[in-house]
Amino acid sequence: MFSKVKGFRDIYGDEIRYWKKFEDIFTEVFNKYDYQEFKLPILEKVELFKRGIGDTTDIVEKEMFVFKDRGGEKLALRPEGTASLVRGYIENKIYTQGLISKYYYYGPMFRRERPQKGRFRQFYQAGVEVFGSNLPIVDAEVIKTMYEILISCGIGDIITLNINSLGCPICRPAYKDKLISFLSSQKDHLCSDCNNRLEKNPLRVLDCKVDRCKSAVSNAPLMVDHLCSDCNEHFKQVKKFLLHFNVNYNINPYMVRGLDYYVRTAFEFNTEFLGASNAVGGGGRYDGLIKTLGGPDIPGIGYAIGADRVVTLMMEKNIIPDLPTKISVIFFNETFEEGFKLLDLLRSQSYTAIYDYEMGSFKNQFKKADRSGSRLAVIIGTDEKEKGVYKVKDLITGNQIEVEQTKLLEEINKIIRK
Ligand code: AMP
Repeated sequence: MFSKVKGFRDIYGDEIRYWKKFEDIFTEVFNKYDYQEFKLPILEKVELFKRGIGDTTDIVEKEMFVFKDRGGEKLALRPEGTASLVRGYIENKIYTQGLISKYYYYGPMFRRERPQKGRFRQFYQAGVEVFGSNLPIVDAEVIKTMYEILISCGIGDIITLNINSLGCPICRPAYKDKLISFLSSQKDHLCSDCNNRLEKNPLRVLDCKVDRCKSAVSNAPLMVDHLCSDCNEHFKQVKKFLLHFNVNYNINPYMVRGLDYYVRTAFEFNTEFLGASNAVGGGGRYDGLIKTLGGPDIPGIGYAIGADRVVTLMMEKNIIPDLPTKISVIFFNETFEEGFKLLDLLRSQSYTAIYDYEMGSFKNQFKKADRSGSRLAVIIGTDEKEKGVYKVKDLITGNQIEVEQTKLLEEINKIIRK
């Protein structure tokens, strides 16, 4: 017997209904906002992530699944979608269309993190990237799509949207120096990770989850107080549009998120219901990234939602997705043709329709129908065939009626809607 690789998991059974519901919801929302799907490869060259995510990030330093293939090429299982989608945008010269491009993607990502509640080594993200505009209304609308998805999933009341501005290449360097000199004075109070981050990635110290780091940075200079006038105005407008869009937010000047490429707007949806892994999804603006990866200087913004975490929250809140109505058709050798016609009719109306492959006795077929989770059984035996009727049995109440064949769909609808 083989077992799974550590941190990987099988997803099946009842849980799949929640995944389907989440997938249906995000697909609908992305369609409504005119996003096109982009199917990305799962393998990319390691260098793409090193450049795109940043050499000093946890993902690149410690978490990527990296290997050499048989040809000696260094590849990585993608740890996120943005770098790949930017590569696709540049490689396929999509920018030559000269328009704003709005894409979404969905699929598994891989990070070799320490597994815990809400944290897996293969997890799923649904994300978007918008290329070609740096206008604050775009930031606000992007955030709104994520808000709408989480609300439609039924978890709006247990999430909080945190936003921040991380400045830009004009205002961040001077702020970074200030922060480094402040953090240097706190060195003894910082955890060992943060001591490493101090020079390489000082902003990350601000959202370290270790208690003593949290208190050490409580008086740290904050980016929001050191924004240049353009960044300040941009942030102001983003907040204004969020209010227009009825998206509630909280400003969290300590939230910097893990990736190197963000400028200006950063945002994250958090919850208290997932222990330490409290982020349900997040993203931000990355105006320099397309250029860094070899493309033209085109701005971009995006986010990723963690599907595993959304599903966990939906299950914990007991939001039970609707089951598609399943109907068992019971028929026999003598009514074989009628039985199959009936199955096709029900399936054409989007019902899940099943039958007993063994076509056993009525009693046996009925027992199986009862155990199958079907809502109804429709029976067509020789008697029914001769009379031009079906028997319809409600498997919840046990009521049975006889209906004319032409009235079947109408009657099924009546029973189900009751
Ligand atoms: P990130 O790409 O790190 O900004 O992550 C975006 C979202 O993906 C997070 O908010 C989580 O919901 C989800 N996520 C990230 N890492 C993991 C993981 N190891 N396991 C499950 N979900 C994750």
